[in-house]
Amino acid sequence: MSLTTVHTVADLRATVANWRAEGLRVALVPTMGALHDGHISLTHLAREHADRVIVSIFVNPTQFAPNEDFGAYPRTLPADQKLLDDAGVELCFTPSVEEMYPDGFATKVSVDGAMTNVLCGAARPGHFDGVAQVVTKLLLQALPDCAIFGQKDYQQLMVIRRFSMDLNIPVEIIGAKILREDDGLAMSSRNRYLTPDERAIAPTLNKVLGDITAKAANGAELGPLLAKGREDILAAGFDPIDYLEVRDADTLELISDTVTKPARIFVAARLGKARLIDNHAIEPA
Ligand code: AMP
Repeated sequence: MSLTTVHTVADLRATVANWRAEGLRVALVPTMGALHDGHISLTHLAREHADRVIVSIFVNPTQFAPNEDFGAYPRTLPADQKLLDDAGVELCFTPSVEEMYPDGFATKVSVDGAMTNVLCGAARPGHFDGVAQVVTKLLLQALPDCAIFGQKDYQQLMVIRRFSMDLNIPVEIIGAKILREDDGLAMSSRNRYLTPDERAIAPTLNKVLGDITAKAANGAELGPLLAKGREDILAAGFDPIDYLEVRDADTLELISDTVTKPARIFVAARLGKARLIDNHAIEPA
C-alpha cells in the first residue's frame, strides 16, 4: 500500500473509520516534518504496535514564542512524503493552520505544576501549553490505539503522558529511544541550522552527558560534575546554556547531590542559530 496524504480532519477520520471497520489497529506518530531517521525509527516502533501507521506533519504555531523559529522552521513536505512512503507508512496527515485553528478557536490545554515549570518549560514560556493543545487535538482527531513520541523530547513525553491520563484520552502513549548520528549527535530537524563548523562541535553535548552519566551512576557528587560539564559545553562554543540538570526520571524533581534512583540528565544550549536539546538516562549502579 503506498502513502496517501490527507489535509482535513474529515478525510483523516474517514480513512481511520475504514480501517476500524476492518478491525485493524492504528498508530499515530505526530511530527513537525523535516523528517530524519529518528522520526522514521518512530514509524518502525509504531508498526510493531499497529497494522496501520499515520504520521502527522504540522508545524504548530501555538508552541512557538514570537521570538522563536516558527517562520524559519524547515518545511520539506515532498522529501518527507518520499521517506514515509519508503518506510511503508500508510497515511500522512498534514493539515493547514486554518484546519487546526479555524476562526473562533478559543480552547487552551494547560498542564500545571512541576513538570511544566522547569527545563524547556522555564526556558520557553507557553511552549508546553501549545504542545498539549496540538497533541490533544491530534489524538482526538485520529483516535488511534497508540501514539509514539521520542525520548529526545523527554519532558514533552512526560507532559503528554500526564494530560492523556488526566483527560482520559483513550490512547496508549509509547516512548521511543533517541536515535543518534554516528558521532553521537541526537538527530533533530534543527541540526539543519548548523554550519559545518558548528556541526563538528555539536556532538560535545552527547559526550558531556555521557561522561557525567557514567560518573553519576557510580555515585559521584553532581555539583562538580555539572560545573565541569558547563565549562566544557561553553568552551566548545555553545552559548548560552539554558540548562544542564539532573532530575528524577518520573517526577522531573531536581536532584542536586547524588543519584540514588532512576534519573535523567538534561541539556539545552544554543549553537549559532540552533537551540539543541539532549538527555541521557542515569541508572544508579
Ligand atoms: P519533531 O518533528 O521534532 O516535533 O519530533 C516529532 C517526534 O519525533 C517527537 O516525538 C520527537 O521526540 C521525535 N524525535 C525527534 N528526534 C528524534 C530522535 N533523534 N530520536 C527519536 N525520536 C526523535
